[in-house]
Amino acid sequence: MEKTFKKILEGYRLFRKKYAEGDNSIMRNLAVHGQKPEIMVVSCCDSRVDPALILQCKPGDLLVVRNVANIVPPYEKDEALHGTSAALEFGVRLLKVRHLILLGHSQCAGIDALLNSQDLGKNDFISKWVSSIKIEENGPKDCDEYAKLGLRLSYINCLTFPWIKKKIEEKSLMIHRWFFDIKKGQIFTYSEIYGVYQSLNI
Ligand SMILES: [Zn+2]
Repeated sequence: MEKTFKKILEGYRLFRKKYAEGDNSIMRNLAVHGQKPEIMVVSCCDSRVDPALILQCKPGDLLVVRNVANIVPPYEKDEALHGTSAALEFGVRLLKVRHLILLGHSQCAGIDALLNSQDLGKNDFISKWVSSIKIEENGPKDCDEYAKLGLRLSYINCLTFPWIKKKIEEKSLMIHRWFFDIKKGQIFTYSEIYGVYQSLNI
């Protein structure tokens, strides 16, 4: 069997041992009592940016929606299929998460596709999807800096969802802008006070 595939089967064995075996396992408890995650993360589908792994979470801790370039599109109640918006509705309205983390990252291929318009049109879906965050004329040309701008645009889009805006105003939901530097393996969080990204204090 292929080495990589063997590796995931071994991972599955360890997962079962740690979380699913026995009458009092985490999985059994989550099945009986249901999930009640307090934190939701919007992250990229990049294989190097797995929120549950970076934050060392257990099953049931995080509600995660992943897409190309961790984009929150604007609120659009139309006939189109809005997967990320549906996940937000599930997390915010039904599960009532208290924190929404927008997790961007360095070296994002989705942001790169957005910036390098000569590549747009060469794919079926990526270009249209990433165009849901608008290119700013005088925006940064650096991919990582643009990823941070993308987080700001996604944050602004979050506030176009009436039920997110309401919860922010009621202070029952907080939105965090986080940027994961792949090379450093480090999270930088946006400071509303200083208007810059700072290393996440631990
Ligand atoms: Zn990415």
